[in-house]
Order: sequence, then C-alpha cells, then structure tokens
Amino acid sequence: MVQYINHPKCVAVGECGLDYYRLPEDEVEKKENIKLQKEIFVAQINLAKKYKKPLIIHIRDASSDSKEILLKQNAGEVGGVLHCFNADDQLLSLSDHGFYFGIGGVLTFKNAKKLINVLVKIPKDKLLIETDAPYLTPEPFRGKRNEPIYTKYVALKMGEVLDMDVEKIEELSTSNAKTLFRI
Ligand SMILES: [Zn+2]
Repeated sequence: MVQYINHPKCVAVGECGLDYYRLPEDEVEKKENIKLQKEIFVAQINLAKKYKKPLIIHIRDASSDSKEILLKQNAGEVGGVLHCFNADDQLLSLSDHGFYFGIGGVLTFKNAKKLINVLVKIPKDKLLIETDAPYLTPEPFRGKRNEPIYTKYVALKMGEVLDMDVEKIEELSTSNAKTLFRI
C-alpha cells in the first residue's frame, strides 16, 4: 500500500468518515458499528498525517462525532474536504482548521434551501465544487448518471447564490483545489 500512497498521483486519503444513516437496529450491534467506524476513521486520519496527504471526508448524520474526532486527532495538520457538505452549521468552524467544503449537485435541487443559506457563510477560500459521480446529478439533468461536465451547473448556481460571475467561481474553486491537494 505504501507504494500507492507515496505515488505522486495520490493526492489524498479517503473517502473516510462516519455514516450513521443506516445503522443496525439492534442496540449492541449499533454500538459496535459506531465504535468500529470511529476506529477506522482515526486510523485513516493517522495514515493521512503520516504521509502528509489531505483527507476526503464523508459525514452523514454524524456531524458532532466527526467534528470531535477531526479536532481531537489534529486532522487539521493535513486538512481535507468535507465532501458533499451536509449543510450542518456546526461544521462551519472547521474552516478555521484547514477544512474545505465540497459542494455538488444538491445545490441545484429545489429543496436545497438549507445548503443555499449555509453557502454564504463558508469562507470563499474554502469552497470546492465536486461531482460525487455517478450520484447527485445537478438540475437540469437530475436522475441521469452524473459526469464531471455537469459541475458547470453547480458553478452557475453557486455564482447566482454568491452574486459572482461563473468565471470567478471557476477560478476560485480551481485555485482552492490546487491549494488543498498541493497540485
Ligand atoms: Zn461520500
């Protein structure tokens, strides 16, 4: 594995994180599942720190535990992106610790109100655009297989919300990505 993580094309570790969306119903199994998820997340953070690569972080219905682990493990040393940012306010302060916020097709959905409201609070130098392909295809292609080419609809919507030209959004997200991934 070391030869892969040291490869110049390996720019990050992940995706990793916590997902409490579908936990076992049995209380004992549920506790074990959460414990295991946390252990693996910590191990992946340590791997990222050892090889000095940023993290790709997945957080679903697990904001407070994820935030606690990221801070406790000093994951800010390498930083990372909260991919498909869940629009949870309590995660915004992670921007002070080297974390970026990945915004995808959800921003273009009709029910994106929460994400639109939180978008303006994210520091501009911490904004990223992502696909999450093949999922979360932006409007007007929602339901089709997602492709990187559709990120332009996310950029357009972001420009609309932040009152910025789409070219500026493209420049911003590209330079932020270069900074985070050191590319
Ligand atoms: Zn994910």
